[in-house]
Amino acid sequence: MSNQKKADLLVIGGGILGAFHAYHAINRGLRVILIERDPRPRGATVRNFGQIVPSGMDPHWQKYGRESLRIYQTLQNQCDLTVKTEGSIYLASDQDELQLLEELAAINSENGYRSELWTPAKCHEQYPNLRREYCKGGLYFPDEISVNPRQMIHRVHQLLSACENYESHFNTSVKECSVNDNGSVVAVTTENQEYVADRAIICSGHDFRTLYPDIYRSSDLQLVQLQMLRTRPLPQVHVPGNVLTGLTIRRYESFHQCPSWLDFLNRWQPDSFQQQYGIHLLFKQEIDGSIIIGDSHQYAAASEANDLPFTQQTAINDYMLSEANQIFALPNWDLEESWTGIYSQTPDPKGYFSHVIEDRIHLLTGIGGKGMTAGPGFTKDYLNEVFDD
Ligand SMILES: Cc1cc2nc3c(=O)[nH]c(=O)nc-3n(C[C@H](O)[C@H](O)[C@H](O)COP(=O)(O)OP(=O)(O)OC[C@H]3O[C@@H](n4cnc5c(N)ncnc54)[C@H](O)[C@@H]3O)c2cc1C
Repeated sequence: MSNQKKADLLVIGGGILGAFHAYHAINRGLRVILIERDPRPRGATVRNFGQIVPSGMDPHWQKYGRESLRIYQTLQNQCDLTVKTEGSIYLASDQDELQLLEELAAINSENGYRSELWTPAKCHEQYPNLRREYCKGGLYFPDEISVNPRQMIHRVHQLLSACENYESHFNTSVKECSVNDNGSVVAVTTENQEYVADRAIICSGHDFRTLYPDIYRSSDLQLVQLQMLRTRPLPQVHVPGNVLTGLTIRRYESFHQCPSWLDFLNRWQPDSFQQQYGIHLLFKQEIDGSIIIGDSHQYAAASEANDLPFTQQTAINDYMLSEANQIFALPNWDLEESWTGIYSQTPDPKGYFSHVIEDRIHLLTGIGGKGMTAGPGFTKDYLNEVFDD
């Protein structure tokens, strides 16, 4: 074994959860080592929309999302994280969805979270390509932001790398992590390099096979695989901010608080293909004019990770494109690329999975589809828990 490096905190995994644990730990004055398996993170954190949408979350997680907005803006003042402050718009396609938007607006007004109800005319003014027959009204959240998911996390790592008392090791895979007889955490890489720290947080996303596989496999964690599309650049089209549509209103947790939610659910008979693959339609335009469109959801238990398909299903992509075409009239729907992403989630009402080993090693994952939105705020709180504040 080669030389040992001692830190206060070892973070394993350089996705959004790992990177922001490192960020908050550095701000507390701790000595931090971060280890990431890939040369640049390429997990869920770079495969998403980059929509930072606290408006879609229940009140508890919305609090973390709002804290994340503040953190992203603070960092954007230090370095271009690709933050765009263009808000989020939810577009209703019928009277039921419109009623939920009106109720959510009232709830957010009580919570002190700004939103504006938009008429169909105002929606069309802001989104000239929106189909008139689709939109019955919108709810706009002016303070929400988006980031470019392919770039943002790498910029965060650049910022971290300039900090004192911090080192990061990319292209480095941890194969074992345990507590030694002195009560220190020792992580061993595949190159047999050892890293030693007082504590470790393992944010390895949906990798349930490398570290502590038995704990993950016997948990109630699920893997969720999503299909995503991106059009060729359409610079003549303007689709600002995060665009969320009727099927999203029927999916996101924030709407569960609405007084008419249960009545609405009883009336709703979803299209079976859409329901089978958990499809809802979101849009986000990138700086080059291309538009990210998604997404679908396919599930496998942690113990049966191999059950997820390794191919993309053309039928899902075709369905998403045909639904998207009912919402926006674009000059064409030519695709630049399509991809899949996987995140892990838990049915636990607390909204994430954690497991602590000998009071020193924290396994943390299962944040589901809210990591980009809630991650920066949530990790600050979780770190307080780790260091017993
Ligand atoms: C298609 C898609 C769309 C989404 N859209 C949004 C959105 O718009 N807004 C939103 O809020 N959320 C969204 N999400 C959810 C969000 O992306 C995730 O919640 C979040 O990225 C999870 O981050 P993570 O750090 O837990 O995992 P990851 O990003 O997967 O990071 C885990 C990291 O750990 C590393 N690692 C694993 N094992 C080891 C090891 N043994 N040694 C060293 N390194 C290791 C991996 O290489 C990886 O980089 C989306 C997710 C997907 C898949």
